[in-house]
Amino acid sequence: MTDNDFSGLGLAEPLLRALRAQDYDRPTPIQAQAIPELLAGKDLLGIAQTGTGKTAAFALPILQHLSASRDRPGPRAARALILAPTRELAIQIGQAFRDYGRHLSLRQAVIFGGVSQRPQVKALHRGVDILVATPGRLLDLMEQRHLRLDSAAHFVLDEADRMLDMGFIRDVKKIAAALPRRRQTLLFSATMPGAVAGLAAALLRDPVRVAVTPAATPVERIEQRVFFVAAGDKRALLARILRDPALERSIVFTRTKHRANRVAQQLDQAGIAADAIHGNKSQAARQRTLEAFRGGRLRVLVATDIAARGIDVDGVTHVINFELPNIPEDYVHRIGRTARAGASGAAISLCDPSEQAFLRGIEALTKRRLEVAEGSPARPAAAAKAPAPKAPRAANANKKPARGGRRRRGRGQKPRRAA
Ligand code: AMP
Repeated sequence: MTDNDFSGLGLAEPLLRALRAQDYDRPTPIQAQAIPELLAGKDLLGIAQTGTGKTAAFALPILQHLSASRDRPGPRAARALILAPTRELAIQIGQAFRDYGRHLSLRQAVIFGGVSQRPQVKALHRGVDILVATPGRLLDLMEQRHLRLDSAAHFVLDEADRMLDMGFIRDVKKIAAALPRRRQTLLFSATMPGAVAGLAAALLRDPVRVAVTPAATPVERIEQRVFFVAAGDKRALLARILRDPALERSIVFTRTKHRANRVAQQLDQAGIAADAIHGNKSQAARQRTLEAFRGGRLRVLVATDIAARGIDVDGVTHVINFELPNIPEDYVHRIGRTARAGASGAAISLCDPSEQAFLRGIEALTKRRLEVAEGSPARPAAAAKAPAPKAPRAANANKKPARGGRRRRGRGQKPRRAA
């Protein structure tokens, strides 16, 4: 054991054993900084994005606290609540708790919308130690008295900025109001806009603040290139790019669900194993597709930005932007799906003439000019203009709210983006 491995952080043997099974040799920076403070019972404000190891940073101390105390959950109660903005993220967090807690006998449940509530109600009936949930379904179950939170001693709000972005602020506040005052609270967010800072001030008590950036930011570590191409030639170009066996496992991004379906179909017809994942697919279908992609049975996953939120698949070699995102930040989220855990990765963007303003916005945000790919025409003059002084966030205004989003009676607030 060396000084910088997990045992130095004060974690108990069953957790260390589970970490060895995961092949985690040493803590990531956020784990090294957060775990001792959380074991000491402090509240925490974590400024960190996916890929930094933040899930283990909160899951390990919570598991240790829960297993160290003799309390058992009462009927329909939870001892720790983790709120996540999307189902995919909730499922991943649930899996992480199972992996790290494999040598502890703690009960857990993961609940989210879009599926029958019956098995979730059943799972909650005897009470759980750990509950991972998305806000909408959680509130529904609380209102139906299937769940009470008045004995939850640990509360984690993950991806708070996305949570607010998706219109969950009121839900989050209602949920927080149902928690006991004496509790440990952790809030994680990749960015800290005013609304998140306000929420943090309202929820946290004298928190420790830990801010980390990924080991190397995507912008530095990912090879990024752009193809200038007519919109009508994108399909053929995509198939040609994917013929290269170096693209072992790729995610192709589109702006719309419809386009995601079309692209996946066309690739499949061209003999490239591909499937689409987006908000109109059932939860079961999305999980099947993700499993096939994880297991290597699908070489290409075609996704929309929202569906890709929180997806954590190792070994993604390439991200291809079939269409450029109109929100520059989405570009950074997209390309962050590759080059995880120190691996290298590449991002290829197909830019048609109508997307040149989006490209300028991306280059202004990342403060870097994308390299023109081999075989692409030279950068058109319109795309070469100096980047706008301000990234065009106004593009947001064009974004229609996603249809099919969760909407519950009487709450009068519609999420801007569906999970
Ligand atoms: P997260 O930021 O929690 O989404 O974690 C990103 C990825 O890093 C996940 O695939 C984790 O399994 C992995 N991971 C987390 N902590 C470590 C660690 N200490 N060593 C190696 N991999 C890790």
